[in-house]
Amino acid sequence: MRAYKVFTIKDGTVIDHIPVGMAIQLIRLLKLIESNCVVTMGANFKSKKRGGKDIIKIENKELTPEEVNQVALLAPKATINIIRDYKIAKKFQVEIPEVFEDTAKCPNPKCITNMDPKNAKFIPVEEGKDMRLKCHYCEKLFKPEELNEYID
Ligand SMILES: [Zn+2]
Repeated sequence: MRAYKVFTIKDGTVIDHIPVGMAIQLIRLLKLIESNCVVTMGANFKSKKRGGKDIIKIENKELTPEEVNQVALLAPKATINIIRDYKIAKKFQVEIPEVFEDTAKCPNPKCITNMDPKNAKFIPVEEGKDMRLKCHYCEKLFKPEELNEYID
């Protein structure tokens, strides 16, 4: 058996239990490339619970509560680990806010918010085990992966 591949960081944030394929979108949503932090991404790690998961490690940056809320848009079951001096200082699950504001554009080309994407708002709705996002204006439902254009 191969050892679990863990790349350690001294200080920063580890976002774990991201749905497979969503780490790239999350890096874009959180604007981690622009942040100049060292970011390492892993995809398709084995996960007992869900078969697979992605992981993001961000060096020398602790996510703010607003950024943690944004993580929930794409990875509602993600776990955040705050690392200080190689140790897990804090570990918690993301919480789904009542509304997502100022995060993503509405994918519906006819939605009125396309005139001013900063007004786009999404209400999380449970659909079985999954989360769907309902646009506050056009009322269409989207899967998290469909929200792929983010607001600056
Ligand atoms: Zn809409």
